[in-house]
Amino acid sequence: MKIKILHLYPKEMNLYGDHGNVLAIKRRCEWRNIDVEVIEHEPDNKIPKDIDIIFGGGGQDSGQGIIEDDLQEIAPKLKDMIEDGVPCLVICGLYQLFGKYFQTSDGKKIMGTSILDVITNAGPERLIGNIVINSYGFGEVVGYENHSGLTSIGPNVNPFGEVILGAGNNGEDKTEGCRYKNCIGTYLHGPILPKNPKLTDFFIEKALERKSATGVMLKKLDDEIEEKAHASAASRPR
Ligand code: GLN
Repeated sequence: MKIKILHLYPKEMNLYGDHGNVLAIKRRCEWRNIDVEVIEHEPDNKIPKDIDIIFGGGGQDSGQGIIEDDLQEIAPKLKDMIEDGVPCLVICGLYQLFGKYFQTSDGKKIMGTSILDVITNAGPERLIGNIVINSYGFGEVVGYENHSGLTSIGPNVNPFGEVILGAGNNGEDKTEGCRYKNCIGTYLHGPILPKNPKLTDFFIEKALERKSATGVMLKKLDDEIEEKAHASAASRPR
């Protein structure tokens, strides 16, 4: 069994350790004897067939501008995959651009894929600090956020969680991130996955489920260290 991860724009979209999410998925697969291939997608590359997990990190406004055209180019393929249930995790900058658009503080509109029913406009100040949320389906999730974008989620997506500490989507409505099918968009860097193993396993499980006709039971791992890291992150002040 082999899982193919499509890592979108690792050069431009990789803030605050986001690449660690790919390493976390890879390591938890390897511990269960599941092979992993990571395909790094950069502008002008072709999207290979049979992708099992899509991942994309955060980036500066300038980086989001650099990848905009290529993202428009590959958007229909990404949309087909997500409609088909491919598990996907997009953080901050790519969360915004999996939505309809991100309008920066200097008024430039960077167009997104419209896969997620969200829009983002830069606010007057950056929202920075540790964040803890009560997620829908994965318990407490911890991370770190740093964004100018204020995101409003539409009726076609569900929030990923409710903010306990921090700002989340917009600092106002207490929602954090969003979920559509098996695609989760979130502002949580950190990276998010190593300290939230249940969430990591969700992506692995969904990827395997799509490949096998029977159900999937992931081998249980010893998460003592991950849980300690989680508890320590959850106890930090903002
Ligand atoms: N540039 C975007 C913003 O400031 C995304 C930032 C990020 O990915 N951390 O909102």
